[in-house]
Amino acid sequence: MLNREELKEIAKMQGDETYFVSLYLNVSPITNTKGDYIIHFKNMLKNTTEGIDRAVFKKVKDDLEKIDAYVLGNKREFKKGLAILSSSENSFWKEYHFAVPVKNELIVDKTPYTKPLLDILDNYQRYAILLVDKESARIFTIHLGGIVEYGEVHTSDIPGKHKKGGWFALSQNHYARHIDYHVGVHLKDVVKKFEGFLSGEYIGRLLVGGSDEAVSMVKGLLPHTVTDRIIGTFHAEMFLKSDEVLKRAEPILQAYEKKKEDVTVEEVLARAMKRENAVIGLEDVLNALQEGRVMKLVFIKDFKDSGYACKNCRYLTKQKVSPCPYCGGEMEEVGYLVDLAAQRAVEQGALIEVISDNKKLSDAGSIGAFLRF
Ligand SMILES: [Zn+2]
Repeated sequence: MLNREELKEIAKMQGDETYFVSLYLNVSPITNTKGDYIIHFKNMLKNTTEGIDRAVFKKVKDDLEKIDAYVLGNKREFKKGLAILSSSENSFWKEYHFAVPVKNELIVDKTPYTKPLLDILDNYQRYAILLVDKESARIFTIHLGGIVEYGEVHTSDIPGKHKKGGWFALSQNHYARHIDYHVGVHLKDVVKKFEGFLSGEYIGRLLVGGSDEAVSMVKGLLPHTVTDRIIGTFHAEMFLKSDEVLKRAEPILQAYEKKKEDVTVEEVLARAMKRENAVIGLEDVLNALQEGRVMKLVFIKDFKDSGYACKNCRYLTKQKVSPCPYCGGEMEEVGYLVDLAAQRAVEQGALIEVISDNKKLSDAGSIGAFLRF
């Protein structure tokens, strides 16, 4: 999964005479029902191939072929957005799958094009989980509904575990103090490593899980700047698999996100009412999109609607109009108006906030947008 450290490394890659191919492609099966993304991809491939120098083309030919084969061959695994960075000359290949759409782009350059990846990191809240007990700790990150284990913290020299007979010789009190001492050393080590991890990653919110005692002890050791960002704690065993850890954390995440969503909805409704750079309702949102004014699209998760799209300029509307009022192009019926709107919003550089459930927004038409102007 995407993280800032990896992106930094990638951004540093630069060959004097070597080239990188960077592909961003919307592969959502919903907005691309007939595999439309293959057509988009082939068009970009054609334009790029024609637009670059022959000598450069020779250098990236392998990459383009590899990416081509990948896009054509991996349809089923795709989420919504796909990013591939490739440079055969540097033996470099990275692929990312996102649950959000991306803006279609195919770029050949001496550096990998990472700006869209940075945007995804910045714009969609990431969480970190610290899982801790008295002997070990694990760190996870959650982004766009997926969880990845970042690393483990093992503090060596915990007595009673591997030193045969060692602690039997100690009196019970002495032994207890010895253990406390080592637990203290371990937890301080965990705190140090967790802070180091956080300083490199700009992660907004945190969760702490593990054995109840270790959780409260570690919270006591963390500085306020870190504890202020903890949105909840939970009980968990250290041996849990990543997806099981995610399951334990989910109620806390959902409660936190629900609160944030409610604030967003209140704001978009209030601003739309005062006509302060916000609109509510599908038709107004679609018009704002057509005018390139959307800064952030907000809609209810399951909101679906159908309507019409211009084949030429991609104007979207609920109204049956023909030809397109903007460009005179041919209109066609489309089934996934909201997904298409989200796609267009992303292409304009807008953010998307999907609201899991909110009665006020549902009552107001299930969709709204904050506008740039
Ligand atoms: Zn049009």
